[in-house]
Amino acid sequence: METPRLEIDLKKIYHNTKSIVNLFKAKNIDVMGITKAVMGDPEIAKVMINAGVSCIGDSRIENIERMKQAGVTAKLALIRTPLISKAEKVVLHADISLNSEVDVIRELSKYALKHSRTHKIILMIEMGDLREGIEIEEIDQFICEVKALPKIKIVGLGTNLGCLNDVKPNSRKMAELSSIASRLEKTHGIEFVIISGGNSSNFQWIMNAHDVYRINNLRIGELILLGTNPSSGSPVHFLKQNAFTLVTEVIESKKKKPYLEGVNTINSSGEAQEIGDELGYGSRTILGIGEQDTNVQGLRPLGNFTIVGSTSDHMIICNASNNLRVGQEARFTMSYEALTSAYTSPFVEKRIIS
Ligand SMILES: *Cc1c(COP(=O)(O)O)cnc(C)c1O
Repeated sequence: METPRLEIDLKKIYHNTKSIVNLFKAKNIDVMGITKAVMGDPEIAKVMINAGVSCIGDSRIENIERMKQAGVTAKLALIRTPLISKAEKVVLHADISLNSEVDVIRELSKYALKHSRTHKIILMIEMGDLREGIEIEEIDQFICEVKALPKIKIVGLGTNLGCLNDVKPNSRKMAELSSIASRLEKTHGIEFVIISGGNSSNFQWIMNAHDVYRINNLRIGELILLGTNPSSGSPVHFLKQNAFTLVTEVIESKKKKPYLEGVNTINSSGEAQEIGDELGYGSRTILGIGEQDTNVQGLRPLGNFTIVGSTSDHMIICNASNNLRVGQEARFTMSYEALTSAYTSPFVEKRIIS
């Protein structure tokens, strides 16, 4: 079998989705399944839908188009504010989009009018993480301007925490979002059908929440795909962490001199320094994968070897027991970043194994 390849276990993704959907349902919260890390893979989207997500969200309009063409029937949400240059595509292919700029929504309105369809939007508000979102002081003016735009329907209010600056979602933030929603509804005579409190980093909050206030939606990618809580970085015990495995193979296995040629290897204490002791007397094993294919830092070896370094096309490993020969396979589990970039690489084959 060719490498590098990404082995995908759909049964594990189903298990994770179902577990999260049931858990959140008990608190009256719908799950938007997020597919951005898997380039909107339609097979994975379909598994999420079968396991009960209320809709699918992705940050790229191209991924949404791909899912639609492949017959994904659920409602599709664009979760990154649209690029103005792609506004027409957004109106044509997304059922709903998350927004934080009036100029963008004006453009969406123009194309919604042209194609005589109504485009639904969720307004994103800034609550401290300082990534996307409308400042709370500006939200009233914002809504007034948007309400005047034809063929645009505000259906929800949302926020995104824990992404750029790791400002954690908590009970106070969720209560605040809920009360802002209620006040805006009263002031502007609108209704937020969806109140979307955040992403996988809301996990801690929801597990401990006695009251979820008006939050009725969370947008979940990492918990479903990797079974890990991004806030703590730790695995969630009732979820599977190995739905994805990256497989590559050894392209060179040799013993090499345990020092660098032509490099000053005197350390700061004036002692001659040998490198490579930890490499098992210069045993160097190279795998046929590199930074061009994935985020090497985000890989965790499955087996008795460690990662020593990487360049665009090579990964050097320390294989102390020296059991990996040319042509043999090496396997890894992966972080969200590593998964995202491996999925995006045309050099990495995607292979469904169950
Ligand atoms: C990526 C993203 C999500 C999903 O985040 P996960 O950590 O994968 O659950 C939700 N909302 C927005 C706006 C995002 O960009």
